[in-house]
Formats: sequence, structure tokens, C-alpha cells
Amino acid sequence: MEKMKENKIELLLRKLTNFTACTIFLSFGTGCVLQSSGDLRYYESFFRHENQNTPIQYGKVRVTFLGTTSILIDDGETQILTDGFFTRPSLWKTAFSKIESDQEIIQSVLDKAKIHRLKGIFVCHSHYDHVMDAPFVAKATNAKLYGSSSTINVGIGAGLNKENLELFQVGKPVKLGKFSITVLESKHTPPFRIFGKTNATDPNFPNILSPLSQPVKAMDYIEGGTFDFLIQHGKHKILIKSSTNFITGAFDQINVDVLFLGIAQLSLQPVSFQETYYNQTVQKLKPSLVVPIHWDNFFLPLAKPLEPNLKLGDDFESNMNILLQRTSKDQIQVQLLQGFESIDLF
Ligand SMILES: [Zn+2]
Repeated sequence: MEKMKENKIELLLRKLTNFTACTIFLSFGTGCVLQSSGDLRYYESFFRHENQNTPIQYGKVRVTFLGTTSILIDDGETQILTDGFFTRPSLWKTAFSKIESDQEIIQSVLDKAKIHRLKGIFVCHSHYDHVMDAPFVAKATNAKLYGSSSTINVGIGAGLNKENLELFQVGKPVKLGKFSITVLESKHTPPFRIFGKTNATDPNFPNILSPLSQPVKAMDYIEGGTFDFLIQHGKHKILIKSSTNFITGAFDQINVDVLFLGIAQLSLQPVSFQETYYNQTVQKLKPSLVVPIHWDNFFLPLAKPLEPNLKLGDDFESNMNILLQRTSKDQIQVQLLQGFESIDLF
């Protein structure tokens, strides 16, 4: 009852904040930054909306999108997960108070996505929208949490056992069932500024140096390095690139079947960056399928249909259009997934 009351108040405050902010921004003629930056109806042809409820066939790999850069990969025997960010606190909460993982939400996602055979969680960097729930997912499933030293400190702060924590060894494959996961050095999306505030990492404090225990402010989750994941299963390969940035030449020797590509803020970068990003990722890796990720508004719950990122700091339609222009020329298939939607890759 108390929680319902709280939720109602929060909803009212959120509506009020949205209204006030919208009024202010509309009066300046800039359009409301708290609106979605795209209309998914224009991209309907890129959704297959398949419902994969049948058992996974032997040798096949099924992936399920769980918002932002959280992807469940399952071959019917072993499950692995990237990030596992499910709490998705509201914009209001994230901006104005300390945040913490919601165990009920986490458990409901684990149940709905049938995460019962999870062996490893790989965290791409230690900002809150990637790492905050990962230790709690590890606790609930007894999976091992793999990450940078910053992610390990988030795990220790959450009380995760040492046996369930493993520091990334870049370039050295980790074997989990029939999967082989290689962590690759990467780079975070270029920093941006909103209302004079930047999300850039302070060069004097690039890592989370001591165990981080919730509740904490979103800003306390320091990037701590950014990583991509090359996942091999039999003769097939998947690459998961969560952040919109690249290291020149990193993929010179790699080809994959499927690329999960972070597109957040792509169109906010200079045209030369947009082109090089495509060239250094899609063009090098030569996937037959690209699945855009990190496109949804993560201030909204995963239980509802996902919506594109807010205009505040992103432009989904422009990001998609940049990608689609190049992939259609290169005849590469692009597919979007709604929350909890799965596809069988191979
Ligand atoms: Zn980040």
C-alpha cells in the first residue's frame, strides 16, 4: 500500500517535472527534450516480433534482448548474459536521489526470460546502466560475474562471494559450456554535456577503487574501462559492442556472423566519426546480421514495451538512418528487438 502511494506520488512528480520541463523547453522553441527521439512505427519492418517459446534445438543459439545492452545468449545448455541491467530507475530518481537495485524486478526478469542456467555475466563497463544489477543477478543465479576492477568492486560492495567474481583477462578466452567468450579492449561513447554537466570520466579517478555498496548516486558508478565481447559457439561468432566508439584496427582480424551494435548518440558525433565507426565495426566484422542495441529509454521499466531514448541526449531516428543507409548499400540485414524478444541466430 505504502509502495503504491509512493509510486503514485513519484508518477505525479514525474508528470509534473515533464510538464514543467516541456513547458520551459517548448517556450524556447527547442521542442521537448523529454520526448522520445523516435517513433518505432516507422521502423516496424525491422522487428520480427517472433515468439520463441519452443525448446532450443541442439547446436542452435538463441538470443533474448533485455533492454539497453543486456543480452541473454542461450544454447539450451548454457546461458550467458551481458550487463543484466533490469531495475531501470526513473529519470527523476536517477537525477535527484540515490539509486539501488530492485530485487523484485530482477527476479521477475529472471523468471520471465527463463534465466535458470546462467553461468556468466559479462559487464561492458561500470556505469550504473550496465553494472548496477549485475552482482544481484549473479547472487540470484549463482553465475559468475566477469568484469573490470571497477565492476569487481561493485560486486564486492554488493556482498558477492569471491568465487563468483572474476577479473577480465583481455584477449584470453573464457570457456563456459560450448561458448568461448573473449573480452576485447574498447572505448566508451564520447562524453556529452547536458545543462553544463558532463558524463566524462575524471582522469584523476578513472576507476571505482573500493567496494561500492548501494544505495549510491548514479555518478558514483565510474566507467572503469569499456570492453567488447567476442563470443564463439561452434563455428559461429557473435560480437557485442555496447558503446558507440572504436579502437582503430581492433577488428582487423575478426569476422562475425552477428553484430550487436551500440548506436546511442551516433548521430550526435561528427560525420567523420560516424563513418569511421561504421568502417571499423560493421565493415571490418562483415556480419550478415546487425542488431542495434542501447537505443531504448532506460528510465522506463523493462516490463513495458521499449521506447527510443529521450531527445535529451540522443536522436534514435538519425542514429538508425545513418546505420540503415550504410547497411542497405552493403546488403547487411538489420533487425531490432523489443524487450524479451528472442531470435534463433544459427
Ligand atoms: Zn556508459
